[in-house]
Amino acid sequence: APKKYYEYLHSLNDRQREAACSDVAVPLMIVAGPGSGKTSTMVGRVLTLLKEGIPPSNILAMTFTTAAASEMRDRIGKVVGKAVAKEIAISTFHSFCLQLCRAHAEKLGRTSEFIIYGHGQQRRAVIEAERLLENDKRSGAEYTTKQYDEDIKTSFKDKAKKWQKFIAQAKASGRTPEEYEKKGDLTGGSVLRHYNEILRSCNALDYHDFINSSITLLTKFPEVYKECQDMWQAIVVDEFQDTSAMQYCLLKILASHNHITIVGDEDQSIFSFNGADASGFDSFRRDFPNHKEIRLSKNYRSTRAIVEAATALIHNNTKRHHHKLVETDNPSGCKITVKECHSEDSQCAFVIDKIIETTSSSAEGCNFGNIAVLYRRQITGKAFQVAFRNRKIPFNIHGVAFYRKKVIKAIMAIVRTTLPDCDDGPWRQAFKALLPSDKEEKKKIIDHIEKIALARKCSFISAATDIFSAKVSGTFKRAQITQGRKVLSTLDSLSKLVEREQSVSVIISSAGDMLPQRYLLEKRAVVDVDNGKLLNEDSDIRSVLQFLMDDVSDFLSTHFSSSMERGKTEEKGCASTLQAFVDYIYLREAENFRSRKEENKNSITLTTIHQSKGLEWDVVFIVQANDSEIPLLHEYNGTVKQSGSTLEEERRLFYVAMTRARKKLYILHVTVDSNRQLLQPSRFLREIPVHLLEVQGEETLRKIPEQPSGDVPIDGPEGNTSIGKPIMEQNETSPYPELAQSCLANDFLRRFDIDDRSVVSHIFHQWGKKQ
Ligand code: ATP
Ligand code: MG
Repeated sequence: APKKYYEYLHSLNDRQREAACSDVAVPLMIVAGPGSGKTSTMVGRVLTLLKEGIPPSNILAMTFTTAAASEMRDRIGKVVGKAVAKEIAISTFHSFCLQLCRAHAEKLGRTSEFIIYGHGQQRRAVIEAERLLENDKRSGAEYTTKQYDEDIKTSFKDKAKKWQKFIAQAKASGRTPEEYEKKGDLTGGSVLRHYNEILRSCNALDYHDFINSSITLLTKFPEVYKECQDMWQAIVVDEFQDTSAMQYCLLKILASHNHITIVGDEDQSIFSFNGADASGFDSFRRDFPNHKEIRLSKNYRSTRAIVEAATALIHNNTKRHHHKLVETDNPSGCKITVKECHSEDSQCAFVIDKIIETTSSSAEGCNFGNIAVLYRRQITGKAFQVAFRNRKIPFNIHGVAFYRKKVIKAIMAIVRTTLPDCDDGPWRQAFKALLPSDKEEKKKIIDHIEKIALARKCSFISAATDIFSAKVSGTFKRAQITQGRKVLSTLDSLSKLVEREQSVSVIISSAGDMLPQRYLLEKRAVVDVDNGKLLNEDSDIRSVLQFLMDDVSDFLSTHFSSSMERGKTEEKGCASTLQAFVDYIYLREAENFRSRKEENKNSITLTTIHQSKGLEWDVVFIVQANDSEIPLLHEYNGTVKQSGSTLEEERRLFYVAMTRARKKLYILHVTVDSNRQLLQPSRFLREIPVHLLEVQGEETLRKIPEQPSGDVPIDGPEGNTSIGKPIMEQNETSPYPELAQSCLANDFLRRFDIDDRSVVSHIFHQWGKKQ
């Protein structure tokens, strides 16, 4: 409805509206700070594309997480209706590329059911590549199985991590084995070559391959290129700063004859470890020379105290391309509380006290859903999970941690064994999950199956079938044979369900039912944070399964609605739907998925800073803000990473964290960690003007040097205060108050049902002059 479109436009400010409505044929770049309405403007842009007559199924919107994708679909749906919003392909790079690869798998030397190699399977493939390398060196002959067994346990394993990293880097930069060999790195080249060959022979692709293979498809196969050019008439990209070089390359190809809009903020670029690089903005400027660039400058999200503090912090980054003017009309709000805690426990206690205080006393009725606890590393969240559980405070961990839960891994492995072309990984995992025996006995059984498989050069499952049907004389006791047979028949019964075309939800819940008792409590996750004491928690397999079933319904309602999928579902049976669901769960794990459903619920969000991108809460706690955590100085392999650029990236991360808060920000640090190691508060605290802070704890006061108060009194009059030094900034002048403007817009449109933008804006200008 055009009326709603104009209503949406008039909820934007002038600059945002200019961006949303600018000529769709001109490539557009929107660069602006946090909370300035970039995502809101991007929604407006999509609405304009629709209004200009581009069919929804020809619009591709790239977001960074699945949660952001469904958020965007909702917002667009409110204006153009759910049915139209469903047609738009709102996707992440990852799932877009995965679908493209599946559709053209045979061109990549795979079948459309190809397997996705996760971290563990990649590791195995790397070890196998090392073996082949060793084999090459020995020219084949004398390399015995025994020697190999030993090598796997020792040298291969040691080197595997390094090689895995090497392969990831090679793929992130799109380098081929030949390029390494040409440069004289023969070993590197041949490890990569072997690795790629192993994946091809296993009908597999890994995480990194999706993007590269998509580029291959688009550049080497004119028919794929043509199909995509015709299909994706307009492309919009949110969070552009986190686009990797290869992803950018893909965008450039897709957009070569089509409309493109990119939206981002280089100060929030926090995924350089994934190969993301804010220099993408420069590439865009170069590659789309006729583009239009729009900067937004008003922060609508946070109080002035938060905006000012965050701006002061980010000014310490020297490698910024542009200094953005950030201003806000929001009230100054209260100071940022910096709290020193003497232990991790007291840190939890403080957060809980404040949460209870906020939720019970707040006049505005701040509920748990408006609060988030952010941390640098996943592990920090565990203590909070336990503490919240004990205090019966609802929280949501339905993030990555959820998909890494053992029980979910087990269920998904069992489900994957029913898919065609399933390789050894899931079979092995499924056996591990379903065998009832104790740990050592289980290991013995699985090792034995693997040994037989290796000796006969057959798959894990055919070795297992032979062993347990007594075709191979084994070393197993009768009880073990019975157990093995039971596992086989259980897995077989699930395959039968798939053959009988049962629904995805039936298959998932049947797989859940197959798990033995020991999965009833997710013991491990809880035990290790509570000194071995088993907690009486209610997150048992049922509730976990319930979450997974929610995913099934989410999946069914959204996944097959987009044009990319249309027509593919009906003719293909259960196995392909199940395959798509497995992909979907895989993607959620890989993409740091946060459930939107959870967010709406009345529960606290516990999340890493990386996952908090693009989101906002009234109250935010940044916990464990210590100098070893953020900046995180030691990488896991022990090398100190403190190069300039990394410190700047850590600062950007802190900046992202701070700018998630709407009203109140707490920053906590601890003085002693659980190993009685003394800790310093984060150096970034020193970069926030002291007059914006309310510091609790003597130590911190001493450690943060006094700074002269700034010009802006924190409790001073509210108003439009500019913070920071504008460099490339035009002035934004608004002749009329925005609120009045949007009220008038709605009222006016409703009364006269006008749907011509120029008439409305003419009236506004007249009205503005009168004011
Ligand atoms: P981030 O960089 O964190 O992703 P962003 O620039 O994408 O932030 P949005 O999430 O689009 O910002 O907007 C931040 C908040 O400001 C939202 O709550 C949004 O509804 C609100 N907002 C955006 N534009 C306006 C406006 N013109 N008037 C009132 N509120 C606005
Ligand atoms: Mg955003």
